[in-house]
Amino acid sequence: MSNTSSFKLVLLGESAVGKSSLVLQFVKQQFDEYRESTIGAAFLTQTVKVEDGSNVKFEIWDTAGQERYKSLAPMYYRGAQCAVVVYDITNYGSLEKAKSWITELQRQADPDIIIAVCGNKSDLAERRAVTSDQVQKMFEGEEGLLFVETSAKSGDGVQALFTVLAEKLHNS
Ligand code: GDP
Ligand code: MG
Repeated sequence: MSNTSSFKLVLLGESAVGKSSLVLQFVKQQFDEYRESTIGAAFLTQTVKVEDGSNVKFEIWDTAGQERYKSLAPMYYRGAQCAVVVYDITNYGSLEKAKSWITELQRQADPDIIIAVCGNKSDLAERRAVTSDQVQKMFEGEEGLLFVETSAKSGDGVQALFTVLAEKLHNS
């Protein structure tokens, strides 16, 4: 019998950056071009095995990015041990939005929250509008953030993102 610990994870970021698609890829290894957008928030769980054989169970709150749901966000990040803040590498504005989510998390969420900044849609590299230099500049001087790029479409980087988070949570 291996032991399992559970962690609450919240996904934040502008609408249409691919939050729901990331979760679908992580939980079901699927991608669906024509998914309906999230209303309010969706809840899913997924368990990953970490190095020492223990299980880390993610309790995932996938929030809706629309402004009209913004006031609900604290309900989801409150008590979260982990946040994935997503932007779209083809949309610079979505990086600025990610920055504002991170500022809000740093002010209002658990001070020990582990935050990953995730640049999604890496399969659309030919339309890239955000470089790693710009990301570095945006988050200069901020400590403890993880930076990753993913494609919810191809699956690139998706398992890696959640595995890194699982290891970090497990060892914290
Ligand atoms: P959310 O509003 O942040 O949950 O975004 P969705 O997951 O609903 O995705 C918004 C749109 O972007 C959908 O049309 C997805 O098919 C598309 N999308 C999401 N992730 C990717 C990706 O990694 N690559 C590409 N090419 N499209 C993606
Ligand atoms: Mg969604």
